[in-house]
Amino acid sequence: MLTNNPKYAISIRGLTKTYANGFQALKGIDLDVQENDFFALLGPNGAGKSTIIGIISTLVRASSGTIQVFGQNVATHVYETKLSLGIVPQEINFSQFEKVGDIVITQAGYYGLRGELAKQRAEKYLRKLDLWEKRDNRSRMLSGGMKRRLMIARALVHEPRLLILDEPTAGVDIELRRSMWEFLQELNRNGTTIILTTHYLEEAESLCRNIAIINQGQIVENTSMRKLLDKLARQTLIFDTCDELKTLPAFNDSDIQCNAIDSHSFEVSLSTSRDINGLYAALSDQGVLIKGMRNKTNRLEELFLSSLKS
Ligand code: ADP
Repeated sequence: MLTNNPKYAISIRGLTKTYANGFQALKGIDLDVQENDFFALLGPNGAGKSTIIGIISTLVRASSGTIQVFGQNVATHVYETKLSLGIVPQEINFSQFEKVGDIVITQAGYYGLRGELAKQRAEKYLRKLDLWEKRDNRSRMLSGGMKRRLMIARALVHEPRLLILDEPTAGVDIELRRSMWEFLQELNRNGTTIILTTHYLEEAESLCRNIAIINQGQIVENTSMRKLLDKLARQTLIFDTCDELKTLPAFNDSDIQCNAIDSHSFEVSLSTSRDINGLYAALSDQGVLIKGMRNKTNRLEELFLSSLKS
């Protein structure tokens, strides 16, 4: 049962999307993002990140499911949700021939900000994003990085409570990436909830407190950044024994956890930084003869190994 809970910036329940060609891009997404969070939606290309953002911003129609923004249903409260949302899409989508200042002032007008107020807001965000000197230039004269910053200034002009950025640093050089991160962190400290999609683990790690990982239209992990990093820092090894196991091997080390699988195998989990020779020595001391050992990979590790490593 969906409850109206405004403490969540975003609350998604049972979201599915099947495109006209029959492709199912989202297969039942449930996701909550707390107010004031800095949240990462991480996933490889084609996972469904932009589709979710498209539905939140009412540009894409969901096949089923609901989304609430600050407790209000996006589908039934279109104007209210638009007021509380700022979206920075992946592709640059302002007019190349319009002047930088006019682009932001025009956007302010869409939100009912007129005259002096619109100009003041435009100035405030163009200054914050280091674009004030460029206000009279046509936008096609801007560098790639400036265009990205203009997208952010434009999304912020109505001072939304929630800012969503779709791959904000794709193709952005490292120096600019860092200054963009600093700007976003300050915005978040001042109370704006931020959600970003990325396929860089490093970016999510530097910025975000909580994270969801999406793959093939499904959420495969939804946790804090800290817990995810802890999880990725551990490995699980499966040992097959020559003889039947009467008791589970004991390791005098709190980092090592051992679980039985069946009468001739068990699994051991330990930090990836650990040397496993010590494991063999401890097993040999206990008279456990090992027939074979293999790495157990879980879905998360496979995902990171295949396409999410930055
Ligand atoms: P991401 O943002 O994670 O890269 P997208 O949400 O853009 O992923 O896409 C998810 C999947 O849906 C991809 O396989 C993509 O090809 C497909 N897709 C996106 N838009 C459309 C569309 N308009 N028609 C058909 N398939 C689409």
